[in-house]
This record gives sequence, structure tokens and C-alpha cells, in this order.
Amino acid sequence: MKESKIAIIGAGLVGSTIAYTLMLKNVIAEIILVDIDEVRCTGEVLDLSDALAFCETSIVRSGTSQDASLANIIIIAAGKKQEPRQDRSELAQTNKKIVASIINNIKPIREDTIILMVTNPVDVLTHYTQKISGLLHNQVIGSGTYLDTQRLRGLLAKKIGIARQSVDVYILGEHGDSQVPIWSTAHINGSLIKDFIDLNNQKLEQIAQETRRRAYEIIECKGATYYGIASCVTDICEAILFDQKQIFPISCYIKEYDTCLSMPVVLGVHGVESIVPTHLNETEQKQLQESAIKIKKITSTLGI
Ligand code: NAD
Repeated sequence: MKESKIAIIGAGLVGSTIAYTLMLKNVIAEIILVDIDEVRCTGEVLDLSDALAFCETSIVRSGTSQDASLANIIIIAAGKKQEPRQDRSELAQTNKKIVASIINNIKPIREDTIILMVTNPVDVLTHYTQKISGLLHNQVIGSGTYLDTQRLRGLLAKKIGIARQSVDVYILGEHGDSQVPIWSTAHINGSLIKDFIDLNNQKLEQIAQETRRRAYEIIECKGATYYGIASCVTDICEAILFDQKQIFPISCYIKEYDTCLSMPVVLGVHGVESIVPTHLNETEQKQLQESAIKIKKITSTLGI
């Protein structure tokens, strides 16, 4: 990955933790941090540089929007975060303005770059960035429900007493309160989950609710979430840079709904290589449609 670069716009808690996770996993040669708060950005770069001796990344530096525009992947983690008990969608108006100024400042953008949106509400802002960046739909993605999916897998794994890597279940739709757990195709190493544990609908809903509430719980306790999302973003970057064709539930443009939401996609060097056909039951299909309607309502209110 010699000469490969990732730019992270927004060097706050999420952006700087993404940088640290990328370094620890030896994903990239050069990391560029960009933030309107230059003092904070300098501090993060100096602090991260102290860890360079322990990884393969050779450069961590602060940069300009023009530097960012030349990166293989541009991660957007700038903007307002949720206050305790605040729905992510309430950040839409403020963060839309921030994303607009970021995209304008990084133009002209490298033609083959991938933009990875992390700022919330992530589905709305992924769609907005697709519209204003001039890049193809497959090149502009959002971290979406990959984090929620990992949370759900973790909760189930703990209940069953197996490794979370063996649990195959997805959360699709909005990265937000209307997210949809897909129980109908959930399995463990090829066997149905119900063969491992007695889970009635009420128990499943309890686990889904716990997953949905996890970010609120963390924010209530410590004001922000960043370790989980940084690990997810690093995994996504790895799949893109190494052209792995791994499947991730991430936010991308779905023609059927004319908006961005999470579906399982094959990720490679061009971003979304294809959307994986998913067979949902009637209830899940309805819930996914409701999730799409919620996202579309926010985008149309914002004039996107
Ligand atoms: P933070 O307040 O710690 O950092 C935000 C940073 O953005 C600040 O350093 C600020 O100076 C910078 N910024 C603001 N406007 C900018 C601009 N125009 N250009 C460059 N930098 C700018 O917040 P955080 O905890 O790092 O959260 C950042 C975003 O990530 C929030 O929207 C939060 O909701 C989101 N988030 C998303 C997920 C997810 O799963 N997608 C998870 C956690 C947080």
C-alpha cells in the first residue's frame, strides 16, 4: 500500500480514533487529518505521531482540503454529534451545511476516490454527498448499519456463548431508530439461531431494542461513541484498499427507494461493486420500506 493515503475530515473523537485504529491495523501508509479547529488537529497529529514507532503507517499529518481531495479514501467525520437522548436525525440541518462546505472545499476531487460518510445522520448525508460531489453512486458510501450489525452479533453471541464472528445476522435500513434486524435469514455457522437458543419474538425484540439503544446508552454515560465506529470504518477501508470483495451492511444508493440506506453490498476498490440480493419476509420488507420513508422525509425537508 505504498503511497496510499486516507484523509479524515473532522479530527474530533471519531476522526482521531479512526486514525489510531487505521494505524494499529497497518491499513495505510499515510493519514491526513483536516479540521477547522487547527489547534485540536495539531494536537491529535502530535499525539498520534507518538504511536508511529509501533505500526507500519509512516506519515500522520494535518493537511488542507486540497490534500484531502487527492486521497484514495476520504472519510468525513466532521460535525455536530448527538446530545444525550437526541435522535441522530436532529443533526441533519447543521451537519448538511458542514458537509456542503467540506465537499465544496475539496473540489476538484480525485476521480477514483471513495468518500466514506460517518457524520450523522449518515444515510441522509451520504445521499446528499452523492448529489453534490459529482462522483458516481458506488463511490460515495456511509458506514451505515455495520456498527449496529456488530452490536447485534455481539449481544447474540454473548447470550448463546459462542464467538461473535460465528453469528451471521444483519441490521439493514437506517443507521438510527428505524433500523431493521433481519431475523428471517439469521444463522450460526449454517444452522438456524433457534437451534442454539430458545428465542421467542419478545426476546428477539428485546435484543433488537438493546442494539438500537446502545449508542444512547454510551452517550448518556460518556458523551460520545468512537471505538466501535472507528473499528468498523477501518474494516471498510481495508476491504476497499485491498479490493477484498467482502460483504458489509453499509449505506449506499438503493434505486427502489430512491435514497441511501444500508443493504448488504460487496465492497472493493471501486466502492460498492454490487448489492447482494436479500430475501426478506413480509414484516421485514415493510419495516425496511418504513425506514426508507423516514430517511426520504428528512432528505426532502432539507431539499436534497
Ligand atoms: P467531535 O465534536 O469530537 O468532533 C467533530 C469535529 O468536527 C471537531 O473537531 C470540529 O472542529 C470538526 N468540524 C466541524 N466542522 C468542520 C468542517 N467544516 N471541516 C472540518 N472539520 C470540522 O464529534 P465526534 O464525536 O467526533 O462525532 C463526529 C460525527 O460522527 C458526529 O456527527 C457523530 O454523530 C458521528 N458519529 C457517527 C457514528 C456512526 O456510526 N456513523 C458513530 C459515532 C459518531
